[in-house]
Amino acid sequence: MEVVIEQIAIYGSVALLCGLVVFFYMRSLNKKSAIVVKKVEVAKAEGTFEPVSLHPFIDLNTCIGSAACIAECPEKDILGIIDGKATVIHASNCVGHGACFHACPVEAISLRIGTEKRGVDLPHVSQTFESNIKGVFIAGELGGMGLIKNSVEQGQQAMENIAALKREKRSGVLDVVIIGAGPAGISATLEAKKRGLSSVTLEQDSLGGTVFTFPRSKIVMTSPMDLPLHGKAKLYDTSKGELLALWNKVIAEQGITITERTKVEAIVPQKDGTFKVSTSTGSEFLSYAVLLAIGRRGTPRKLGVPGEELPNVAYRLLEPENITGKKAIVVGGGDSAVESAMLLAEQNEVVLSYRKDQFARIKPKNKAAIDAAIAKGELKVIFNSDLVSISEQAVLMKVGEEVKELPNDLVYIFAGGELPTGFLQKIGIEITKRFGHIVKKHG
Ligand SMILES: Cc1cc2nc3c(=O)[nH]c(=O)nc-3n(C[C@H](O)[C@H](O)[C@H](O)COP(=O)(O)OP(=O)(O)OC[C@H]3O[C@@H](n4cnc5c(N)ncnc54)[C@H](O)[C@@H]3O)c2cc1C
Ligand code: SF4
Repeated sequence: MEVVIEQIAIYGSVALLCGLVVFFYMRSLNKKSAIVVKKVEVAKAEGTFEPVSLHPFIDLNTCIGSAACIAECPEKDILGIIDGKATVIHASNCVGHGACFHACPVEAISLRIGTEKRGVDLPHVSQTFESNIKGVFIAGELGGMGLIKNSVEQGQQAMENIAALKREKRSGVLDVVIIGAGPAGISATLEAKKRGLSSVTLEQDSLGGTVFTFPRSKIVMTSPMDLPLHGKAKLYDTSKGELLALWNKVIAEQGITITERTKVEAIVPQKDGTFKVSTSTGSEFLSYAVLLAIGRRGTPRKLGVPGEELPNVAYRLLEPENITGKKAIVVGGGDSAVESAMLLAEQNEVVLSYRKDQFARIKPKNKAAIDAAIAKGELKVIFNSDLVSISEQAVLMKVGEEVKELPNDLVYIFAGGELPTGFLQKIGIEITKRFGHIVKKHG
């Protein structure tokens, strides 16, 4: 009898212990879920819950809540777990490199572009990367497929197809004009050289494309990249600097020049089947084919004021930690302008100029931070103001009816951007709005 009682006591204790473990485990899960629910609410209020481009889509029937996707995602708070299932949080911050897609042990994630609510414009591209306009090809993220490796592959494949076109050699007519020097444009440029094609590569900004503008150094590559005229680059754990150095080295070794700071403004088909490509610097090229490798991030909008072309004017803030002791004017009233102004103000004297009388469309957390910074005198904001002209030492600013001169070293303009859609439509390229278009899925 005593033995039975003893056994019941042991079983009871074990059951109680297990119950307690389960209770505390469930309580911790519930607490974690509640934190994620709160983050989702904030994301919805701040407008970052809806993705803008490529993003993970979670099949809730398959998801087992392993959290492997969260562990692999290098960005903060894009994914979370609620009640044992993955969810997106700040989906608009997703950069679409698909580390989560590869990490999921039960293949519950697909990569999609656009959602049921927010469509994304994608151009029509054939299997040979040709658009509806014969001779105009599209490679890289512009066609809907993100990632450095995919863009490199597509740039190379598109150029193979361009090389296969029949054409007679004519003086003054290039085989191809490549527009954009991101991963797709660089790889296409190398493939054109490998195949003996005459080509120019025109880049509105700097070699490297979107990679050049990454705010973080770490680059995620889930498989090796095959670069024409170089071979396999096994860069799993690399940095932005290392990747840019590799591209620069291969291009220099091949004696190729990429024409930077030259924006393509028009592509006009000619009667003889060639294309006239005109640029912002006034240069013009005739070619048999055009490769658009312009990505999806568009072109920063300019103010159109004298002096905007000076080297002290920029449209994005790179490496703010290296900018110290300067007088800087930041122009704009959106989140990018406000965040950049506050970052610069840590080590510089900053004036933020905005044409409206108050900030209307910034995230609540940025509004609170900038109000606090103004109150502490960390930076100055001038509302109802417009830049009139820029020189290397000063700017002229119209405030109300008055024009003032402000001594200044650097100008950062955040006046929004023009998406590639308008540029493509001007050329005549057909575009469809895609809602939740699957770009990558398992099986
Ligand atoms: C913050 C961030 C982090 C990322 N991290 C990773 C990562 O770790 N791993 C990964 O694989 N992918 C990552 N990606 C995605 C990757 O950067 C893109 O998929 C890739 O750069 C697309 O290459 P692309 O050549 O198609 O376009 P882009 O790199 O966007 O290059 C297009 C180029 O065309 C130029 N251009 C545009 N219009 C014109 C014009 N009219 N005239 C002349 N030039 C023009 C642009 O200035 C730009 O340089 C990240 C993206 C972002 C935003
Ligand atoms: S695609 Fe990349 S950035 Fe987006 S959620 Fe997945 S791992 Fe994170």
